[in-house]
Amino acid sequence: MPQDAGIIVVDDERGIRDLLSYELSSRGYRIATASNGSEALRLLSGGDFQLVISDVRMPKMDGLAFLEAVKSTTPNIEVIIMTGFATVELAVDAMKNGAYDFIQKPFNLDELMILIEKSLERRELKALVAMYEASRAVFASDRFEDMLQVIVRITAELLKADDASVLMVRGADLEFSASWGLASEDNRRARLALGALHLPDISARREAIICPGPEPASTASPARQTAILQPLHIGGELLGLLEVVRTSRAEPFHNSDLHNLSVFASQVVQALANARALRNLEQLQTQMAQADRSSAIGTMAAAVAHELNNPLTGILGSAQLLMESHGLTQVQRDDLNCILEQVHRCRHITEDLMRFSERREPKLAEVDLAELLNMSLRLSRFDLDQDIEIIKELPSDPRRIRADPMRLKQVFINLIRNAIQAMSHSPVKKLEIRLDWHPESVHIHFRDTGCGIPKEHQARLFKPFFTTKEAGKGTGLGLSICRNIINRHGGSIAVESAPGAGTVFTIELPTNSPDKGAAPIP
Ligand code: ADP
Repeated sequence: MPQDAGIIVVDDERGIRDLLSYELSSRGYRIATASNGSEALRLLSGGDFQLVISDVRMPKMDGLAFLEAVKSTTPNIEVIIMTGFATVELAVDAMKNGAYDFIQKPFNLDELMILIEKSLERRELKALVAMYEASRAVFASDRFEDMLQVIVRITAELLKADDASVLMVRGADLEFSASWGLASEDNRRARLALGALHLPDISARREAIICPGPEPASTASPARQTAILQPLHIGGELLGLLEVVRTSRAEPFHNSDLHNLSVFASQVVQALANARALRNLEQLQTQMAQADRSSAIGTMAAAVAHELNNPLTGILGSAQLLMESHGLTQVQRDDLNCILEQVHRCRHITEDLMRFSERREPKLAEVDLAELLNMSLRLSRFDLDQDIEIIKELPSDPRRIRADPMRLKQVFINLIRNAIQAMSHSPVKKLEIRLDWHPESVHIHFRDTGCGIPKEHQARLFKPFFTTKEAGKGTGLGLSICRNIINRHGGSIAVESAPGAGTVFTIELPTNSPDKGAAPIP
């Protein structure tokens, strides 16, 4: 039992206050005294207390009114009522209203000590039960993102806080991952700024801290209060911060809250580690299933494309020969042109199929990504309308990555062409290509103002043969090929889009993986 628990003794008789103050302090408790209810409430709002021992009959505010006020402002605090013989009935009423127990004056000190210990034990037990229930709720969700949402809600409830957020570490920065109780963007920004301010200190000490809360978002907001920043470590890695803030409650956070949160956080971290492992496993399974499917489709596609190419070459040759013969009517010429056009379309499809199934060793070289992107734009110039505005943010950087330039160019051209096609009916046509260098990776963004992609299509986008383009315009193999190429370079490709809001494709490539690119590209 914590012997340093804080206790407030409330009695209008000075003798009782002095006696209890002396006896309880000598047993290691932190004691404050008050001669009436309102003074005690003031003490409660500013300090770290776990128990109140109060007389039942006092001037100004009687024991029952005081009890009601304590339970409504600080429900976790236990209250023991002291009563004279004539007021036992009042004391029983107090118990019905949430007091832990009562003791009759004149009391035996040993009896009072036992009562104090038991009440503090019960308080601790209640906190533990609440935490156990909370941990069960956290463990009940197994998706990482759902779990974060449960964690912030429960943390705020457990700590009687106004809001709680999870800020995840991303590179050298923090990013907002989940929040509860935060309506405005300004408030989110303030939470992020507070986390970023204390991040170096917390990462170094690996311990939670209590600090002044974030600046209020507006002058109309309540005064700033306290916050707890709890680091979330998995193994040696700092995953993020749990930030809990009280803005409207008068009572600031105390060390007991810090202790409770750190116990809860150890459970949270375990649950997050499980969810992360599960997510990684699922991703791996999807990738493996995808690899199997792609490989089977690839083999079949190669065979079909190969078989079709021979007759197509025959048709093409014969049609070209016919075109050169004399005496053709205009109608015949038009028909032959139509045949040639359709054969070219078929050739285009078979070429795509061959590329999709091609297995060759990548030809690795030191690649200047900015130059490769410029070249890809130049090669796409015939597709580019006059009215498409190109915005390039390709900062010159001495860094080179080891990659297969031909393959990467193929990816870039595919993304540029898709973007151009998606903007064909857009009132504003803007294609932005940005290169962001990070210490271990480089990100390439292709942002367009095109038609956007509905949610239900996004999951299928990178699957072979998914296309929304009219027959003859698309084979649905482009993005699937792009993803294979990027994956084989040890990178990833992702899409963010909404109908009408344009699309961003982001490629992430490692800056130093000379070996990963050496695997054959399917
Ligand atoms: P294809 O271009 O042959 O259809 P892709 O695999 O390159 O094959 O693209 C698949 C589908 O993804 C396209 O048909 C289109 O619906 C969608 N798509 C790709 N890029 C974009 C984009 N920038 N904006 C909107 N839709 C896109």
